[in-house]
Amino acid sequence: MTSEMENLGIIEDGAIAITSSRIGAVGKTSDILSQYSAAERVDAAGRIVTPGFIDPHTHFVFAGSRENELELKIKGASYLEILEQGGGILRTVKDTRAASKNELLRICSERAKNLLVHGATTIEAKSGYGLTLDDELKSLEVIRELNSAGPLSLVPTFLGAHAVPPEYQDRVDEYVELLCERWVPEVARRRLAVFCDVFCEKGVFEIEDSRRILEAGKRVGLLPRIHADEFFALGGAELAAEVGAVSADHLLFVTATGISALKSAGTIATLLPAAPLTLMLDRYADARKIISEGVPVAIGSDLSPGCWLENPQLAIGLACYKLKMTPAEALVASTINAAHAIRRADEVGSIEVGKQADMLVVDAPDYRFLGYRFGTNMVERVVKKGRVVAEQGRLVA
Ligand SMILES: [Zn+2]
Repeated sequence: MTSEMENLGIIEDGAIAITSSRIGAVGKTSDILSQYSAAERVDAAGRIVTPGFIDPHTHFVFAGSRENELELKIKGASYLEILEQGGGILRTVKDTRAASKNELLRICSERAKNLLVHGATTIEAKSGYGLTLDDELKSLEVIRELNSAGPLSLVPTFLGAHAVPPEYQDRVDEYVELLCERWVPEVARRRLAVFCDVFCEKGVFEIEDSRRILEAGKRVGLLPRIHADEFFALGGAELAAEVGAVSADHLLFVTATGISALKSAGTIATLLPAAPLTLMLDRYADARKIISEGVPVAIGSDLSPGCWLENPQLAIGLACYKLKMTPAEALVASTINAAHAIRRADEVGSIEVGKQADMLVVDAPDYRFLGYRFGTNMVERVVKKGRVVAEQGRLVA
């Protein structure tokens, strides 16, 4: 049985006409060539052309690295044990606070290039390693500046509720109050974010706190999205539906009730197969069940210092091999569904007339190579807003 998510609308021997930054026409090569002439042509014979990949979940702004934790994880240390040794997110918070805005810009600009040459043309980018108002604003400003600089498009998310900062240990209520009353309105006032996110998890921000934060965001025009049911069936998906979240992410432990709540609310399920992989968990989100219940699924990287994945093609591979999504579903999940998950589907995510011309020439004879062959950069050319911006893994100067 094929799902709705397997409908790719493939055109064999197809061509695309681009007028300035937009898609002007799509059809058979002979038809397009008879109607259009172009100053510049990109030959994609023998290969496939896909929409640019959209990564709907990245913890994009961080300084430093945590390579030592891989060895700790291999030796069996849990996430909480690493945290107790001053590692994990607290280590990254320290490094991100210590970095100046210019340093962060330099680090993140390199990161943006890595994403782009692997085929990401639009990403969601979260703050969340500053956890002081100034450091969160600094992170969001970095996202804004990189987005203006291009070519990668970044959609900003305020994630002040990523963790309880060390200064507020055992005073979660006070921190939530501060977020709702001061930081969220300030972020909105400066127009630095589109989304407000919360790490809704047992012992971090539980349901009540998460609801308060997401509602505070809504009051000032920030769209809700949520880290839901990653380690426990806490009811994050149900909360996502209740507040009208655009996306509920992770969902390893989502219940049947949670799935039907997402379905009724029209919330996208954003699944992040690299997260359990790098946490060395045996459990993955039940993509088959979520899809069969009719909830649209998007795939993201969860790029972060603990899950340093900058290649959307590998996320597609993991979606196939670990979530048992078909290559067609994984491609839809990484393009049009991912665009819906960040509210950009009117502009990007598919090769349709009128949309922004964000496309990839992939060196593969068949779309199923996405997923099947993984770990190799098969993206030969990246077209962003109608311009070739990367070729053979390098940015075009
Ligand atoms: Zn996340």
